[in-house]
Amino acid sequence: MADSSASSAKARVRPLLVRPGARYTCFGDGLCCTDIHVLGPLGRSERKRVEAVDPEAVVLEEGLDGAPVLRIAPDGGCHFLLPDRRCSIHAEHGPQQKPGFCRRFPVGLVATPQGGRVTTEHRCPCRTLGERPLLDPESALPSIADRRGRPKADRRVKKVRLAKKKKVPFDEWRVMEAELLGRMAEGEDPAAVLGAAPFPRLKKSSWEAEMESMVEEAIDGSAFGFAAAWFAEAVFALRDPEHRVRLPMRPWSPAFDRAEARPGAPRHAEEVFADWIADEIWALAWTDDRSFDVACADWATRLQVAREVAGWLEEEGHRADRAAAEGVMVAELIGDSEFWTDIVSLMRP
Ligand code: SF4
Repeated sequence: MADSSASSAKARVRPLLVRPGARYTCFGDGLCCTDIHVLGPLGRSERKRVEAVDPEAVVLEEGLDGAPVLRIAPDGGCHFLLPDRRCSIHAEHGPQQKPGFCRRFPVGLVATPQGGRVTTEHRCPCRTLGERPLLDPESALPSIADRRGRPKADRRVKKVRLAKKKKVPFDEWRVMEAELLGRMAEGEDPAAVLGAAPFPRLKKSSWEAEMESMVEEAIDGSAFGFAAAWFAEAVFALRDPEHRVRLPMRPWSPAFDRAEARPGAPRHAEEVFADWIADEIWALAWTDDRSFDVACADWATRLQVAREVAGWLEEEGHRADRAAAEGVMVAELIGDSEFWTDIVSLMRP
């Protein structure tokens, strides 16, 4: 059946599609191979491959119910990271020997009735800063393919839930989505396009209580822990103008220094924010566990946090696009965490 407009159309990975205007290539800025996020979990065969290279390289992560992950060195980098920021598995055994999440990041693939949407994560400064070529779906293929070279989807989406009791077929969603993305591409503030209030009511909880418990659990000396502290400080400041802000360290800063040093005209901070929100919508990861109205409340909240963080960094003298890119990194990272998934489940927009 060739008619992709039929609501019963299957989700498929071909043709590969990119969001118009999305730009990315890997420059090796090096953020992804650090404890900015957990380097795992490893599947059974991935674990075998990694342990075949070095039996000491895998540890069990308490926070992931004891799942196997890559060991982090005392400097916060992956066990396999070389001093020149190359991966020693890649260098000595080839890219196919690396765990799947290393080969994929920051690219992803979602199967839809329209085809396979290539997605990108914006915590990666290679995605957000400096001169970057337009994302080419075929050159992304090695990242999103399985070990036999076939595109492998992270998720399949055929219908989209707009609100608690309202689901629409994908083609109806595409029309709505095109209008939203078009308004952002024309320069409209993404907060206005989302049309949702930030910081919705939380069922039987408060933003302050959620942030306090996140910080208590997340702060462990890792880069992720520092990002959680920045996020929480932004939430406290946004909700209480009297809050005395204490800005934590930024262990991710060297990766952004490298990205900022690349050629290319600085971007407008607003362009960085709009690009991120557009990709959050396009990636459809939100369809896993929430309706679009809840997703909009989530993005409206994290967009405010990203802008707050960026404002502080600009005050410290950083270039506006770099400040925005770091704000987006903090907001996306926490948004991808289990802490945030739990908070979203409490949202009552
Ligand atoms: S295995 Fe290689 S690519 Fe993966 S996190 Fe470690 S250094 Fe980076």
